[in-house]
Amino acid sequence: MIDKEYDIVIVGAGPAGTVAGRFAAEQGASVLILEKDRDVGYPVRCGEAVSKEGITPFIQPDQKWIASEINTFIFVSPDGTEVKINFDQTGYILERRIFDYELGKLAVMSGAKILTKAYAYDLIWDNSKITGLKFEHNGEKKEVKAKIIIGADGVESRVGRWAGIETHTKISDMECCVQYTISNLKLNSNACYFYFGKEVSPGGYLWVFPKGTNSANIGLGIGGDRAKFRSPLSYINQFIEKNFSYASKLTMVSGGVPCSITLKEIAKENIMLVGDAARQVNPLSGGGIVSGMIGGSIAGEIAGKAIKEKNLKLLYDYPKIWYERVGRKHEIYYKIKNAIYNFSDEILNSIAHSVTKIPENERTLLSIFKIALRDRPSLIFEMAKFFFY
Ligand SMILES: Cc1cc2nc3c(=O)[nH]c(=O)nc-3n(C[C@H](O)[C@H](O)[C@H](O)COP(=O)(O)OP(=O)(O)OC[C@H]3O[C@@H](n4cnc5c(N)ncnc54)[C@H](O)[C@@H]3O)c2cc1C
Repeated sequence: MIDKEYDIVIVGAGPAGTVAGRFAAEQGASVLILEKDRDVGYPVRCGEAVSKEGITPFIQPDQKWIASEINTFIFVSPDGTEVKINFDQTGYILERRIFDYELGKLAVMSGAKILTKAYAYDLIWDNSKITGLKFEHNGEKKEVKAKIIIGADGVESRVGRWAGIETHTKISDMECCVQYTISNLKLNSNACYFYFGKEVSPGGYLWVFPKGTNSANIGLGIGGDRAKFRSPLSYINQFIEKNFSYASKLTMVSGGVPCSITLKEIAKENIMLVGDAARQVNPLSGGGIVSGMIGGSIAGEIAGKAIKEKNLKLLYDYPKIWYERVGRKHEIYYKIKNAIYNFSDEILNSIAHSVTKIPENERTLLSIFKIALRDRPSLIFEMAKFFFY
């Protein structure tokens, strides 16, 4: 049973929505999370890579949702040169189906209510004020009143648009991704591979993330402007045919990742946007799990306080805190992404050749970056262009 009215209604039970729900409920607010799918955490559309450091503020690591522990990155340049880097933290490849579900349980244990098979399709307006949500549950049209609504409805978010927020993302910033989970292949189960180059993944990268000892998520993302010339699916099929033709494809997923900076407006009157809906993805890596949880936690806590203190103006603190904590960094990553993803194959090869000369134990992401600038001083100007314009 759900009530007719809640302090806060959240659309979407992904990591951003359930973390927002938990943090709001912890402030004493009544919270309802609407999820259109039948299950929290499924279907999974994700490479499932996170850092341990990123997730531990929100959930304690548990073997039941850790498929692999990562300690090595291997970057592969267009001519096949492998650059191995020891990761100075711990990375995980998740079982997101279980991970998201556990985040849902934490939200519920804090007092939030989750309703699955509940598809939000419009806002309720009273004159010019938003007072709730319309949704469909088990084929029945229903309404719920709310003082605050949080849009955590992912990349295809509509909550913001309904509220009059500009949510448009440039096509070149919308990475078109496709991924197979492949089984019966031999891999280093502690290493993540990243392949670059115009033949593999133009304007993006291709990933091979191990899931245990004999499976992997193999996917790629290419800018939407390039995807119209050749489909991401044809690139991934070509790669798998060349490298893993003997293995079996168990699942295939596709989806967009908004690799842009955060939306200008993520709080408006009694509406907040979090996670992919707010474009809080790290634009350089395309990772949005951790940043979505950070956005969700900030928004949820502020929404809960706003209810407690009966002061909806507090919602405008959310964009400021997000920007200081993460948004500012994302603006820098966005500029770096635009520079790196436009590197020619020759530049990528030349950087890889230089880095392989550094002893393995001295290689870091920063040292690669420095080499990129040292070997190609002209890159400084290219980078500068992106930083200052
Ligand atoms: C192929 C691919 C690979 C990726 N790999 C990685 C990776 O390795 N690491 C990483 O960190 N990130 C990765 N990402 C990005 C990551 O998946 C997202 O950034 C992350 O899931 C965002 O969380 P979220 O809670 O904002 O949205 P989501 O996880 O998308 O959750 C949104 C939820 O809202 C629900 N919903 C939507 N509309 C409605 C509605 N109208 N009513 C009710 N419910 C609704 C959806 O069903 C969904 O459950 C990848 C993405 C893709 C597509």
